[in-house]
Amino acid sequence: MPELPEVERARAALEKGALGRRITAVDDADTWVCRPHAPGEIADALTGATLTVAHRRGKAMWVETDRGVVLGLHLGMAGRIAVDEPPADRAWDRFSVQFEDGGRLALHDRRRLGRVVLDPDLDRVGPDAAEVGRDEFRERVGRGSAPLKARIMDQGTIAGVGNLLADETLWKAGLSPLLPAGDLDDDQLDHLRRVLRRATRSAIRKGGVHTGDLIPHRSRGGTCPRCGAELRRDTVGGRTTYWCPADQPGPG
Ligand SMILES: [Zn+2]
Repeated sequence: MPELPEVERARAALEKGALGRRITAVDDADTWVCRPHAPGEIADALTGATLTVAHRRGKAMWVETDRGVVLGLHLGMAGRIAVDEPPADRAWDRFSVQFEDGGRLALHDRRRLGRVVLDPDLDRVGPDAAEVGRDEFRERVGRGSAPLKARIMDQGTIAGVGNLLADETLWKAGLSPLLPAGDLDDDQLDHLRRVLRRATRSAIRKGGVHTGDLIPHRSRGGTCPRCGAELRRDTVGGRTTYWCPADQPGPG
C-alpha cells in the first residue's frame, strides 16, 4: 500500500513527466474513482489547461493548473501514476488525460481504491510526517491514551505514515507501539520525530517503505535484525504490528 515515500515518488514522476504539457482530452468515465463528479465534469475543467505544479502532503497529492483549477490524485491501496506508458499497460487505468504532444498521464489502479477529485479538501490532512516541526509534533503526537502506533498513523495528526513505516520507525526509535502516546516526554517525542524523518527520507531514496531494515522480518517467527529476539505480533490501531520486546520496552 502506498505510504508517504511511494506517494512522493509518484509526485516526482508527475513533476518530471507531466508538467508544462497542455491537456487535450480527459477520460473521467469511472464515476466511482471520480466521485462525486459526474462524467465530463473533470474533463470540462481540465481540457485546454496545462499542469503547472505537483504538490504532496502525507499521502495526499494535487496538481495545480494554469486555469486555477486543482486536480487531486489519491493512490488508494494500490494505485500508481503512469506517464507515457505504452497501450499494453492500460487495462487498469481508472482515469487518464491526453496531452497535446501525444503523451498521456493515467491513474493505474487494479483495485480501484484510488481517487481523482477537483479542488480537493485538505483540511483534514495533518502536517507532513517528514516536514512537521518540533513543537507541532510534540503537541500533536504527545497526547491522549491511544497507542503510539495508532497516533502516528492517524492522518489528521501527522500525514503520510502507514503500517510499514510505523513499524519501521518505532523499531528504530526503540519505542513500543503500545505506549500511550501521551506518556512520551519531550525528549522521546523529539527523538521519534528525527527517526521518522530519517526513515521516511531513506525510503524515498531507496524506492519505498519495503526497503526498511525491519520489513523483511515482519512474518510469523521473524526475529529482530538488531538483537535476534523473536518479534512480537499484535494488532494495534486495527493493523498487524511487529515489534521487538527487547528493544522497544513498554506495556504488554
Ligand atoms: Zn531487538
